[in-house]
Amino acid sequence: MSATRIILFGPPGVGKGTQAARLRDALKLAHISTGDILRENLKTGTPLGVEAKGYMDAGKLVPDELVIALVRDRLAKPDCDDGFILDGFPRTFEQAEKLDAMLAERGTPIQAVLSFRADEPTLVARISGRRVCRSCGASYHVEFGPSKKGDICEKCDGEVYQRSDDRPEAVAERLRQYVSMSKPLEERYRASGLLREVDGMVSPEAVYQASMSALGA
Ligand code: AMP
Repeated sequence: MSATRIILFGPPGVGKGTQAARLRDALKLAHISTGDILRENLKTGTPLGVEAKGYMDAGKLVPDELVIALVRDRLAKPDCDDGFILDGFPRTFEQAEKLDAMLAERGTPIQAVLSFRADEPTLVARISGRRVCRSCGASYHVEFGPSKKGDICEKCDGEVYQRSDDRPEAVAERLRQYVSMSKPLEERYRASGLLREVDGMVSPEAVYQASMSALGA
């Protein structure tokens, strides 16, 4: 049986969002991207968005209590009952501890943590060329996979733009934050027997195949 409660873990630019969308469609799971939810709040100007903006623009992590509260709300929605993919959460020990506690209350523990790996030059090249759709979140790359309609999204005709935190100043800080705050979590999940390492340097299709087999799907 395939795992249905999954964490996608790894540095910015490794392809978590791309794989999450494919796994969501293939396995019929809810997709919870804390970055997407925060960007949506930013766009609509909610109090959460206003508070998160400064951190996100600077490439820093948003405070734990804000992110934990939004994940708690999201997990309570009925589409999570049949399983979910957490994309970009947890990113700190505090988040991981709180997540375990929330899921223990529901009796639905995490079943697998896919940890994607890529070297830093690859991450920087991917992030700096990344463009995303403002409306549907579809991801493109100026060199490796541009939208066939230029600055217009192929899927929904939305505007394709560069995230402000994908600019070089913020990227360096995001990579630093990953190494100091998030990467140590790998050991936690390795110790609990949940960690499955996936090579993120190969094609998106090859990463997807490796992910599916790591999940037993
Ligand atoms: P992402 O789209 O996952 O790269 O996230 C974009 C930005 O949102 C990050 O650089 C952080 O500022 C913020 N963010 C997303 N997820 C988290 C999280 N789990 N903890 C703290 N900040 C987060």
